[in-house]
Amino acid sequence: MATQTKEKPARKEGMYEVVMEQFAHAADIMNLDPGVRKILSKTNTEIEVNFPVRLDNGKIEVFTGYRVQHNNALGPYKGGLRYHDTVDLDAARALAIWMTWKTALAGLPFGGAKGGIHINPKNYSKSELERITRRFTYALGDNIGPDLDIPAPDVNTNAQIMAWIADTFSSTKSPSTRFVNLHVVTGKPVGAGGLAGRDRATGFGVVSNIKFWAKHKGFNLKGAKFIVQGFGNVGYWTAHFLIKEGAKLIAVQDVSATLHDEKGIDAEALLKYSMDNGRSLKGYKGAKEYDPAAFWGLDCEIVVPAALGNQITEQNAGAIKAKLVAEGANGPTDIHGEAILKKNGVDIIPDILCNSGGVIGSYYEWLQNKRAEIWKIDQVLEMIHDKLETSFEKVVAEAKAHKVDWRMGAYIAALRRLEDTYMDRGIFP
Ligand code: GLU
Repeated sequence: MATQTKEKPARKEGMYEVVMEQFAHAADIMNLDPGVRKILSKTNTEIEVNFPVRLDNGKIEVFTGYRVQHNNALGPYKGGLRYHDTVDLDAARALAIWMTWKTALAGLPFGGAKGGIHINPKNYSKSELERITRRFTYALGDNIGPDLDIPAPDVNTNAQIMAWIADTFSSTKSPSTRFVNLHVVTGKPVGAGGLAGRDRATGFGVVSNIKFWAKHKGFNLKGAKFIVQGFGNVGYWTAHFLIKEGAKLIAVQDVSATLHDEKGIDAEALLKYSMDNGRSLKGYKGAKEYDPAAFWGLDCEIVVPAALGNQITEQNAGAIKAKLVAEGANGPTDIHGEAILKKNGVDIIPDILCNSGGVIGSYYEWLQNKRAEIWKIDQVLEMIHDKLETSFEKVVAEAKAHKVDWRMGAYIAALRRLEDTYMDRGIFP
């Protein structure tokens, strides 16, 4: 007799619940000092601004932007700004907290922050986006600054947007201080004080980490099949560098389409198509459209989520056949999805390690601006690779010492650094 199977409703926590659960778990394992645990459980500052902008049609619209500053024990707040309709206070909070762990793990002199605007940028013209960005920067005022809080690109923001922020911030200050304010943001275009290589730093770093993993496991990347979710900055550059290692991109998914080709997708042709097509993959003729629901279950060795949070869940984690999930995105795997991956023996390079090449690149841009130097791209990429190798080794060592997975290893390394700082410095007064 056929029994009717009732589908279990998906348990879906927000990113904030996910990061807090990861934190609580790590704090328990490492026996984190209770005072430090209390401090890190809260964000230092949460800013919400509403600001008006005149649109091209002459009408006024009011936008809402956020900047959450989680912790600055190690240095100025650091983290991206995203323009997306999932941006709210909770999302900014979660992403700010992940930034604190990320910068701590990378050994940078930075804290953690995140923000953005609740907006779908595809609905606005370039000149509207410029006015929105400039007015948002003006609204944030002196809550950001080169030694206080340094934004950077994130989902749907880019070098152009960073240039507008730097220009607006500097233009509202005395002309004599213009160039000491250049590093109020990182990820600027090279001509506007940006760092050669910052554009590709995150994807480059994802691939550095995949290479460390492959070496650690004795895995050959040549001919290995991989899939990428998201074809923005991180997705594209990851594909670019992984193909250079001899791996084969067999599927790409974005909000508009899922593309599949066992023979391999040409990342450069796909990028060109997407740029000409408003950054959408829909309609690309070089690969076949595929069932979006079957994407994660594709036969491959490496899965790279490089889009939004909470994508790998209990609904789809069981379908993943790959050996490795390399988290290019922030928070792509939720707690239940992770439990399934672990049970199935799938390795995870956790976000705070895997995508930290971006903020490491930002650190070098900040330094380059502070010192009024100009560095070459090869030099920059080598420095990023070296720093990531140190982080990777630290994570593996902590994981081994505590008999935990790499995410917990990464958390323990990050939290230990924060704990040491508080222990040395004490609390004012
Ligand atoms: N948005 C990137 C991240 O999530 C980069 C942050 C930065 O460079 O400050 O890590």
